[in-house]
Amino acid sequence: MSDNISRKSFLKRAGAIAAVSSVGIPSILLSQSQEKLGVALVGLGNYSTSRLAPGLQQTDHCELRGIVTGSPEKIPEWQEQYNIPDSNVYNYENMHELANNDDIDIVYVVVPTGLHAKYSIIAAEAGKHVWCEKPMAMNVEECQNIIDAVNRNNVSLAIGYRLHHEPNTQKIMQFAREQTYGAVTEVRTAAGYDGYHEDGNWRKNAELGGGALYDMGVYPINAIRYATQMEPIAVNGRQSTVRKEVYPEVDEITDFQLEFANGMICTGETSFGKSMNYLNVNTEDGWYYLKPMSNYSGVQGMTSDGTALPADPGHQQARQMDAEALAIKEGRPPIVPGSQGLNDIRIVNAIMESSRNGRSRIEL
Ligand code: NAD
Repeated sequence: MSDNISRKSFLKRAGAIAAVSSVGIPSILLSQSQEKLGVALVGLGNYSTSRLAPGLQQTDHCELRGIVTGSPEKIPEWQEQYNIPDSNVYNYENMHELANNDDIDIVYVVVPTGLHAKYSIIAAEAGKHVWCEKPMAMNVEECQNIIDAVNRNNVSLAIGYRLHHEPNTQKIMQFAREQTYGAVTEVRTAAGYDGYHEDGNWRKNAELGGGALYDMGVYPINAIRYATQMEPIAVNGRQSTVRKEVYPEVDEITDFQLEFANGMICTGETSFGKSMNYLNVNTEDGWYYLKPMSNYSGVQGMTSDGTALPADPGHQQARQMDAEALAIKEGRPPIVPGSQGLNDIRIVNAIMESSRNGRSRIEL
């Protein structure tokens, strides 16, 4: 859309109309609704470079139009590769000026976890829809501050839990909702990698949100929640570090149990030193699993009646961003709202508290 003012007012009107009715949209709005929303990536690290920017080349409802970076040396290559004009390049100090840029509809925060709240709030205050990477933030208060900022500014917020858009994961959620194999009786799940982080990497830094639990632990936590479609009432957990020389200030390994009101206990594990990736669900009438359960591709599994859950060939992040962009265009709530991120962080913080207190039971 060439006219920025009409573009902005269209997005507001489209949302309002879609909220009232899904039919009878004037043809002028229908043709405009095929416009892609403009996305600005905040933080041009590994995930933005290897997954999000390439994914945004495959999306139908949004496209990469801007960048926010503290690394000037990255700018020429990104501008050239993705055809980004000077007017859509920002740094962390001036990103609030996005408020004056109608090219950008959505700001996607892809910096270390300890900075998610800061930049998500700046984006919301600039009047932009916010996509915030997992884990949402460091604690419940920060998560709530993000939610309050988007509500105050009447913009939407989605958390980057790409698996909620992955077809086999969606089947697991459906099995729980419809009790296809009976009620869920137990979940065992783990996500970790046999890795090493070099000095200076924020994943070793407690203040920036490093450690296995924040970084990888939210996968098994979120998986238990989506595989049961229930919220736990209490947790216990233990955090430890084998390679103290590599991880002097954060956990290398965390294992935990989530307890539910019906007495069910589900277990999860995460690690920076052990490769594991599965979601096993037992039910009254059978079982099913995904293995791997959180990789970028190849998520697949099986059910107890022999139904295969074959890997989907699609680009997960493209699917995620398209679905969330379409929700914005149609004025619908996000598919993965802030409450998803907040509920996981409440559990993360409770596991940390439990570990500090000799694996005591912490009520949520
Ligand atoms: P990364 O280290 O590769 O990139 C981080 C970026 O943040 C870099 O460009 C860095 O320059 C920038 N940055 C800004 N301020 C910084 C500071 N004070 N200290 C350090 N870096 C700073 O990390 P990544 O793997 O791209 O992860 C970024 C975010 O994306 C994290 O929240 C992570 O959890 C999330 N992530 C999500 C997935 C997923 O599957 N959804 C996968 C990978 C990463």
